Amino acid sequence: MEGISYTKVLSTLGHYDVVVLGGGPAGCCAAVEAARNGAKTLLLESTGMLGGMATSGMVGPFMTSYDRDGNRPVVGGLFREIISKLADRSAAILPEETDSPSKYTSFIERYHRHVTPFDAFSMQVLLDEMTEEAGVEVMLYTKFADCICEDGKIKAAVVAALEGLRCVTAELFIDCTGTAAAAAAAGVPTWKGEEESGIPQPGTLMFEVSGAEDELVQSRPKRPIKVYLTREKGTYRVNHEHVFNVDAADSRSMSAAHREARRQVVESYRVLKEETPGFAGARIGQVAPVFGVRESRHIKGLYTITVEDVSGGTRFPDRIAAYGFGMDVHIRSREMSGNFKIEVAEVYYVPYRSMVPVNCSNLLVAGKTISCYSQAAGGLRCMPCAMAMGQAAGAAASIAVRKAVTPAEVPVDELQDLLLRHGAILD
Ligand SMILES: Cc1cc2nc3c(=O)[nH]c(=O)nc-3n(C[C@H](O)[C@H](O)[C@H](O)COP(=O)(O)OP(=O)(O)OC[C@H]3O[C@@H](n4cnc5c(N)ncnc54)[C@H](O)[C@@H]3O)c2cc1C
Repeated sequence: MEGISYTKVLSTLGHYDVVVLGGGPAGCCAAVEAARNGAKTLLLESTGMLGGMATSGMVGPFMTSYDRDGNRPVVGGLFREIISKLADRSAAILPEETDSPSKYTSFIERYHRHVTPFDAFSMQVLLDEMTEEAGVEVMLYTKFADCICEDGKIKAAVVAALEGLRCVTAELFIDCTGTAAAAAAAGVPTWKGEEESGIPQPGTLMFEVSGAEDELVQSRPKRPIKVYLTREKGTYRVNHEHVFNVDAADSRSMSAAHREARRQVVESYRVLKEETPGFAGARIGQVAPVFGVRESRHIKGLYTITVEDVSGGTRFPDRIAAYGFGMDVHIRSREMSGNFKIEVAEVYYVPYRSMVPVNCSNLLVAGKTISCYSQAAGGLRCMPCAMAMGQAAGAAASIAVRKAVTPAEVPVDELQDLLLRHGAILD
């Protein structure tokens, strides 16, 4: 590849115990948990808000946090704390109050029991407060760009701050970028999307409409476009068209996708208004500022979660999270047919090793890019599970820093004990 060599001395933003890259559902929980456990923590986020897909992507509701059949909660910890605090502010409906099929689940019956509708702006505000209370230093508008590595470790992360290129050093980094950007830059083997084809799940630009006639909308549960009722009467989140084969780690690909997605929003809004009962008088409200990416890279970790682990419910001795949503793999091209083709176990688990990358001894990865085959990630990628993974990564990082060990050397029983004391559900 042709290029131009460039040398520059970067001033440093400081030295931290833990630097979390990416402030989505996983990254915020990682940072709060690490800081609450005493680690000096910096959270870097490239947009102007915390919450990732939950806020900038306008994704919602939080998908089920119960087991497959909707009998009991399997995600607790920070997820439960966040939704309880939102509910206290009348900004969420708790999952015990929703069931499927219902207006909150878009009348989808399978795997959609006990979702949590929430208000995206309240989520931004709450995450600002929770990070501040925990003592996390937050830098918004700061994008991870590269790693300087030495002896199999990240010596410094190079970031594009608004004031220019800077670097930051840390004992341990947690990659929650949703594209495994730091892992890839540090030389961790990664792959994109489906293993054989390299094609990721499609993306969607979410939007909201208000002023719909609820009774009419709900009298016709079968609709050409999925709409989820929010907490506001007559206001629906629209999870509609797909843009295929988008590489979320490539600016040209993302630019083309986002532009195409805007055209799709215009067309879906037309279909709602002209062809969908209840939406004739509806108005388009917010359109997500950020294009919704379902899948990008997966890292190679000490263990890679397989479809069999998810369908058989492998009860890993080092499990750090449990989940029950189905393998929701959207079509990867127009020619393919629907989701949920493979059944999941009543509960399945995330092993700690799937967040510990090979080839880099001071890095953890949490959220949708953990070491997991594409189909198996179809359920794990949802926000409640991403938050549970983030919390576990933050807890593990705090233990690693305190004991001066690598993530791979963190005693699993100590990690699980800490998570259980902090409300996690591991069975
Ligand atoms: C269209 C769509 C619909 C979905 N529907 C649902 C649903 O109904 N319910 C549900 O629970 N889940 C749903 N999901 C899945 C869910 O939203 C994601 O899988 C989840 O948000 C993953 O969390 P994460 O923290 O790993 O990543 P993300 O939410 O993607 O967060 C990554 C964060 O990192 C930041 N970032 C990225 N690169 C950098 C960088 N270089 N430097 C600094 N910061 C960076 C981003 O701005 C973002 O804030 C949906 C996803 C999509 C796209």
